[in-house]
Amino acid sequence: MDYAIENAPERETTTALLEAVGVEPVACKAVWYGFPQAEFVAPDHFGDLIEVTASSMRVFEETDCMASALLEIVDELRRLTECTCTFGHEGAFQLIAILGDGCQKKGSPADVALVRELADAAAAYASCEEGRAMGRAVLQALELFGEELTAHFEKRQCPTSGCAAFKTVHILVSRCTGCGACLEACEDGAIMGKPRFVHVVDQGKCTQCKRCQEACPEQAVVLAGAKKPKTPPRPIPVKR
Ligand code: SF4
Ligand code: SF4
Repeated sequence: MDYAIENAPERETTTALLEAVGVEPVACKAVWYGFPQAEFVAPDHFGDLIEVTASSMRVFEETDCMASALLEIVDELRRLTECTCTFGHEGAFQLIAILGDGCQKKGSPADVALVRELADAAAAYASCEEGRAMGRAVLQALELFGEELTAHFEKRQCPTSGCAAFKTVHILVSRCTGCGACLEACEDGAIMGKPRFVHVVDQGKCTQCKRCQEACPEQAVVLAGAKKPKTPPRPIPVKR
């Protein structure tokens, strides 16, 4: 979530800035300060005095995905400048494409080195400060959230389940009445079921379009991240 930084002294701690906007520092995974400050601060440095030049800060919680967060930040920094140099402008487009693939389950292990290479080049050679800040932001994110970021490329996993593409769709046994509305709504043939049977999603066919969720009158269709609800492999008679 974004917060405006108002009436802050030139030097302040992140803890004090968080408390000023009513956020508990212990609940935060990291803070991003907007351009021109353009830096992440991790919890073990929340007590450090920093030069405050940003007018806003973005606060991340444990459940926020830092790969999608970084993608958003790179895109925001790119939009701040009209510079069209190779390392900043072109580098940003490549970084956005690669990070976007990672968040869409399409990343590959080799992408991690490419991200680092593009960020290194932008930080050193981009013509504008926004481009160099973008490169530094990516390098800093790799240092602070490296494991979380690389999991998207090396394991095709989102550790926080914050990326929509990594979520799976499930039908809760306790709520399903076997009405069949979801089965009718699914255009991918990804739902198994018959009247008065608890319906089941075929994960191999599901495209996470959520049509079934919109169609279900019982709120029995849920999206799940790392923690999946227990569901039967095949339709079973409804008990309610
Ligand atoms: S999310 Fe879409 S594809 Fe998946 S089961 Fe529901 S309707 Fe079918
Ligand atoms: S999941 Fe919802 S829409 Fe589908 S059969 Fe069960 S109750 Fe009906």
